[in-house]
Amino acid sequence: MISDNIASLKRQIPSSVKVVAVSKGWPVSGILEAYNTGHRIFGENRVQELLSKKDLLPGDIEWHLIGHLQTNKVKHVVPFISMIQSVDSIRLLRAVNNAALKINRRIDCLLQFHIAEEQSKYGFTMDEVRELAGSDELARMEAVRICGVMGMATFTDDMEQVRDEFKYLNSCYRELSEKFFTDQEHFSEVSMGMSGDYTVAIEEGSTIIRIGSIIFGRRQEI
Ligand SMILES: *Cc1c(COP(=O)(O)O)cnc(C)c1O
Repeated sequence: MISDNIASLKRQIPSSVKVVAVSKGWPVSGILEAYNTGHRIFGENRVQELLSKKDLLPGDIEWHLIGHLQTNKVKHVVPFISMIQSVDSIRLLRAVNNAALKINRRIDCLLQFHIAEEQSKYGFTMDEVRELAGSDELARMEAVRICGVMGMATFTDDMEQVRDEFKYLNSCYRELSEKFFTDQEHFSEVSMGMSGDYTVAIEEGSTIIRIGSIIFGRRQEI
């Protein structure tokens, strides 16, 4: 089932769009089924759950963290994480940089934007990112690499609203790309789109979709 779901999803999307299989709430057996189809990129939103699963799974999985990361947990993920998509404050970025420096790693990060209408504590505004992107401090952070932006649209059936939010995120990406990350080829990712809205996201320029329920089925809330 899981293998069919992945295969049919990948048939529907351009091959240039990366799929993060969001395995939160699913046991390692399901993740292994996806892995055995050749899929390697998985995402979790909770550090504890990620840590308990990853030791039971093959070492060549590329783990993406997609949920809020508390600074006191940074040291647990930095040794192995492939990408932190949910960098939502300068304080967190600093903590990642410091932890990565200590172990000689460079961590790929996305800046998470707050684009939905729902109140959320997490995510940058474009003004905050402009300030960060132009700062000397960012230029000195050698152990993080900003690879693009990430955002979650409002949870609604109104696909025009969702489309506008994705358009906005992509316009932020383009502005940053032109003004601040001009000569940085790795600044290339726009992570947007989940099971309910990935088609719209891809139409609006997504390069990474984060898909849970379409691959694994509806999750039990834990
Ligand atoms: C759970 C989650 C997803 C995947 O959601 P689905 O609707 O199950 O595809 C994507 N992104 C984030 C940040 C999530 O927490």
